[in-house]
Amino acid sequence: IPDRSDIDREVKSVCPYCGVGCQLTFKVKDDKIAWVEGAEGPANENRLCVKGRFGFDYVHHDHRLTVPLIRKDGAEKGLNVDPGNWSTHFREATWEEALDVAANGLKGRGREVAGFGSAKCSNEEAYLFQKLIRQGFGHNNVDHCTRLCHASSVAALLENVGSGAVTATFNEIENADVAIVIGANPTENHPVAATYFKQFAKRGGQLIVMDPRGQGLKRHTSHMLQFKPGADVSMLNAIMHVIVDEDLYDRQYIAAMTENWEAMKAHLAEFPPEKMEAICGIPAETLRDVARVWAGAKSGMIFWGMGISQHIHGTDNSRCLISLALMCGQVGRPGTGLHPLRGQNNVQGASDAGLIPMFLPDYQSVTDDGVRSAFHEIWGEGEVAPEKGLTVVEIMDAIHEGDIRAMYILGENPAMSDPDVDHARAALAKLDHLVVQDIFLTETANYADVILPASAWVEKTGTVTNTNRQVQMGRPAVPWPGQAREDWWITTELAKRLGLGWDYTHPREVFAEMKQSMASLDNITWERLESEAVTYPSSGLDDPGAAIVFADAFPRDGGRARFTPASVVPPDEVPDTDYPFVLITGRQLEHWHTGAMTRRASMLDALEPEANCSLHPRTLRKLGVEPGDLVRLTTRRGSIKVMARADRAVAEDNVFLPFAYVEASANLLTNPALDPYGKIPEFKYSAVRVEAIAPA
Ligand code: SF4
Repeated sequence: IPDRSDIDREVKSVCPYCGVGCQLTFKVKDDKIAWVEGAEGPANENRLCVKGRFGFDYVHHDHRLTVPLIRKDGAEKGLNVDPGNWSTHFREATWEEALDVAANGLKGRGREVAGFGSAKCSNEEAYLFQKLIRQGFGHNNVDHCTRLCHASSVAALLENVGSGAVTATFNEIENADVAIVIGANPTENHPVAATYFKQFAKRGGQLIVMDPRGQGLKRHTSHMLQFKPGADVSMLNAIMHVIVDEDLYDRQYIAAMTENWEAMKAHLAEFPPEKMEAICGIPAETLRDVARVWAGAKSGMIFWGMGISQHIHGTDNSRCLISLALMCGQVGRPGTGLHPLRGQNNVQGASDAGLIPMFLPDYQSVTDDGVRSAFHEIWGEGEVAPEKGLTVVEIMDAIHEGDIRAMYILGENPAMSDPDVDHARAALAKLDHLVVQDIFLTETANYADVILPASAWVEKTGTVTNTNRQVQMGRPAVPWPGQAREDWWITTELAKRLGLGWDYTHPREVFAEMKQSMASLDNITWERLESEAVTYPSSGLDDPGAAIVFADAFPRDGGRARFTPASVVPPDEVPDTDYPFVLITGRQLEHWHTGAMTRRASMLDALEPEANCSLHPRTLRKLGVEPGDLVRLTTRRGSIKVMARADRAVAEDNVFLPFAYVEASANLLTNPALDPYGKIPEFKYSAVRVEAIAPA
């Protein structure tokens, strides 16, 4: 327990973990974080979860990369390097040498190069990364982990609402009568947001949770719909069918603010609840009741997570949620809105900054001639290519096909996070040249030719944008370890060696350049962010920004939102006698994504030290397995051994598996089949076999 009277300084910043974007204060002693307190941020009002409060000593871990590294001649690539003893495979280099080798391996290779940036870095660093790939290599093969989380939600929102961000902050739930949370587990994944949801229920709001798995919010709900995995479209269309059938929709709103209603209405005729109940596993009367509650609410919000987006029909799932809100006029007023809960601390900002293969900053299409020439004016050199680039999983396929031969990866860990991860690992091993920039020697860095030591979020200056569209300032609390440097500096030095005339000396200069092409940042200045958080859009220098948008019009041609009917598309592979269970992967409260940070955070790792999966107690009994025993999980892609837990929240024919553990990599099992619009893999549904492992 630290001595709380004895610190050297306090630094106000933002939590590096999830998209809630809690503000916090680092208490620093001897250049180390002694402890952390919640601060008065717009998204958290002093609250923090276990990760924000106790998950910080990873920055001082002795695995931190502190010098640039170059692979030794002949050292084999693969998951074979001890992150605490890299000298078996790498040698130390100076920054000059490492940057020269990194740049020389990429230079002049044009379309043979691809880049993965990071939603863990600042807005300025995301902007520079996409600019480097576009300007330096003349194509758009640049992406990041948004492809694996909300790409399908963004595709549906852009198509039907005209904007990929939330229409209202999650705090607006305060003004709602009804809230639907679907395909999300906020108490585990957005814990501080979940506290607002619980407050809402306590003051009498009706909370409707829809998810194949039970969860902590269940005891606060008016309705808990534990539907069958993959049956989202059937269930949501049935609910909308009732709203049409019982004439509960908002005629005035639909006439004034939307288009394509008649086609939607006709489509929904095919989905009576009595026909859908066996498919989705929810009684018709419950579906009718939920429809009446939702349609009868004065104000309602819909929140969703990866359970909606990570399917081959993820875009269709989101289309249904958008339609459900529009048909009852639940957008643009206090207590209403559509809110995909964003995962990483800066996945909203990195997407806004153009770290995606089809859009330049502010979702301006690379296929638009006017947009490209506007960027050419600002950037001055290098033409932006007119073709959309490849996405995360497509880039791995292109490596196998020999079309991509070199990569620059900043802060992403595809050797853990990609679906069918053996395929991704084999792709990384095939590259002629891989540059990895990170704070640890991650699983992906095991395949690198050059490793550039970066700074952690708590060591850098930069802005981030949370799930609420709130732009906030991150400040350095502790110095970089050894020779590690900030990511914006490293990317700038690489750009110089690629022949680009970059001369940035501080992130504020990058932010100023971003404002030239990003209308979303109008009235948001670096100076303002030094003293306050600002929500975009902001109408003036004294306007804190709009918590709710689209009251009068949507940012689409004609100003109307659109109904896009969604048909039922079955999961890519369904259970059979060989693989009779459904595998659902996800996060757990204590661990963050691929575990690089949280498994090195001593308190979090002590709470959850071991790879585990969750099965219903009756399933365990049928298998002859005791809680704590190892089981074998096998899909068509691979097999792992993992400790089994008893969990009544999991349906009897489902398995839940967190993906943070390299010793039992969940993504060895997952299905790489993609949603055709968002290009997101089906992480939430694979057919799997579960077997007891006989004691040795
Ligand atoms: Fe950090 Fe998210 Fe927890 Fe807030 S809710 S403290 S942003 S992990």
